Amino acid sequence: MLSLTSEITASDAIHPEKIQAIVDRQETADKVRVRECIARARTLKGLTLEETAVLTSVQDPELVQEIYDAAKYVKHEIYGKRLVLFAPLYYSNYCSNNCLYCGFRRDNPQPRRKLTLDEVEKETRCLIDQGHKRILVIAGEDNRKSSFRYLLDVIERVYRVRSGKGEIRRINVEMAPMTVEEFVELRSMKIGTYVLFQETYDPEVYRRMHPPGPKADYAARLNAMDNAMEAGINDVGIGSLFGLNDWRFEVLALLSHAQHLEQRFGTGPHTISVPRLEPAECAPMAIQPPCPVSDADFKKLVAIIRLAVPYTGMILTTRESAEMRGQLFDLGVSQISAGSRTSPGGYTEQQEETAQFSLGDHRTLDEVIADIAAHGYIPSFCTGCYRLGRTGSDFMDLAKPGLIRAHCLPNAMFTFEEYIRDYATPATAELGEQTIERMLDQDVPWGIRAKVTKVLDRIKNGERDIYY
Ligand code: SAM
Ligand code: SF4
Repeated sequence: MLSLTSEITASDAIHPEKIQAIVDRQETADKVRVRECIARARTLKGLTLEETAVLTSVQDPELVQEIYDAAKYVKHEIYGKRLVLFAPLYYSNYCSNNCLYCGFRRDNPQPRRKLTLDEVEKETRCLIDQGHKRILVIAGEDNRKSSFRYLLDVIERVYRVRSGKGEIRRINVEMAPMTVEEFVELRSMKIGTYVLFQETYDPEVYRRMHPPGPKADYAARLNAMDNAMEAGINDVGIGSLFGLNDWRFEVLALLSHAQHLEQRFGTGPHTISVPRLEPAECAPMAIQPPCPVSDADFKKLVAIIRLAVPYTGMILTTRESAEMRGQLFDLGVSQISAGSRTSPGGYTEQQEETAQFSLGDHRTLDEVIADIAAHGYIPSFCTGCYRLGRTGSDFMDLAKPGLIRAHCLPNAMFTFEEYIRDYATPATAELGEQTIERMLDQDVPWGIRAKVTKVLDRIKNGERDIYY
């Protein structure tokens, strides 16, 4: 359980005007100062708001490259060559909010649908049959059409589904803010991470983007993670929707949010997501983003987040193109979605007219996995930490260089071997076996190689779900 060190919640601890002041007074920093900040980041201790602001001001291509090199170093020291994979499961697109950037907004005359539990099961089966083990359950916010109780039913049903040799082993949840009591119930369903994006940490921009409706309450959204952690959910995931506001401000605000959670609960967020606005039906701000983020700035902000909060996982979704995703693996991303659909029923019915937004990466899970292996990484479906209770600060303790290599890399190899045996196309299977062999030789610590080889053999002989 988390130790609560203060009663101060995020809405009191995070000061947008102070963050804005840091952004405003940050001129282009001189080379010496920038290099000092990069050198500090290489010690894996993270960065202060001021140091992070220095890096956001960098324009000089030589210094930008040094930021990238440092991000790559930090990424590899802490996360090694592992990339965790998941898929979203949308079960309802009813929404009582009117967020100006979202295809689910209530003013969009798109067809609305809430999946029945049998349909949820069908979608789950389809994801399991592709090889997925981790999903993110998502829906619009509409308490009359799709209640909190229904969310619990959906989770229960997903965990019960078995198909072939597979099952979903970890459900993360991305859903509107809840009360502490509701979070306690949600926690009892054995969820992994609770995810919620603030969208923008600027209260004025937030007000403009969110017409009246439950989501219009900026402070309630900001305090959702405090409620979740008070309820004992150790792993929470924060995020900003890039494109709504100046990305420099949002990066500092995300860091400020992470610092608040760390101070109050002794552990920061488990993940930070970096969604970037995509076109969406009938959503003016998605069609013309108020503060578009260029590809160059997007790469920079991913690398800076990696340096500022080295032990926090970073999530990138199929909003981004295959090419951009490939480049961001090296700069700090540690989890990606693959083979995603953003409409309820999208996996079994391939329909697009009820989608939340359009995707940048349309490849299948197998194609994404082949690409990950071709980039020298290893895909992971591991759910070991959360099932062994290594969450929150226990996970952060584990996430020290060396330890990840001893636990997470072998677990990634075991789940990849399962994927190869049960789901891979012949070409991906061949590439996968070569990847596992190479990692066994080059990356697995010498002392545990024999043990890892033994487990791989057990999986080749038909055993499943082995982790440590
Ligand atoms: N309704 C809940 C909420 O708003 O938090 C749960 C999930 S909502 C479907 C998931 C996230 O999608 C939002 O938090 C927002 O950041 C993101 N999103 C909405 N419209 C988007 C768009 N056009 N492009 C990219 N991401 C978008
Ligand atoms: Fe509804 Fe969430 Fe979309 Fe806003 S972002 S319209 S709350 S689904």
